[in-house]
Amino acid sequence: HDEEAAAKAAAINADNGAPTIFDKIISKEIPSAIVYEDDKVLAFKDINPVAPVHVLVIPKFRDGLTQLGKAEQRHGEILGQLLYAARIVAEKEGILEGFRVVINNGPSACQSVYHLHLHVLGGRQMHWPPG
Ligand code: 5GP
Repeated sequence: HDEEAAAKAAAINADNGAPTIFDKIISKEIPSAIVYEDDKVLAFKDINPVAPVHVLVIPKFRDGLTQLGKAEQRHGEILGQLLYAARIVAEKEGILEGFRVVINNGPSACQSVYHLHLHVLGGRQMHWPPG
């Protein structure tokens, strides 16, 4: 029944456009350790860090960006703002010398929250290729 379990997991994590836990983080209904915030972008520490520094950078208004694969030309400005916020986060966290920015897109890349987010990772030697 491995296939059935995998199909169920994929269905739970499907991009169905439903609200995600990140909405409650943006509204501060769920607390998070905020690293950077402005009117368009929020950056907060990942609850399950995979590196000494692990910060998520998200748009406050999802605007169809459940995943990078849904990006359209009109998203260019917010996409640039997210990437620049990643750099601000890296500086604030003291990892400007070496850090990695990751976007998991879709089930085969293990995306689990369908609200676009950049992972900013650092504070240890990173390896290549990623798993
Ligand atoms: P993905 O797997 O979609 O690329 O990344 C989602 C990330 O969100 C995961 O690394 C997970 O640990 C993080 N995450 C999920 N729920 C919460 C939460 O409630 N608070 C925080 N701070 N991070 C979360």
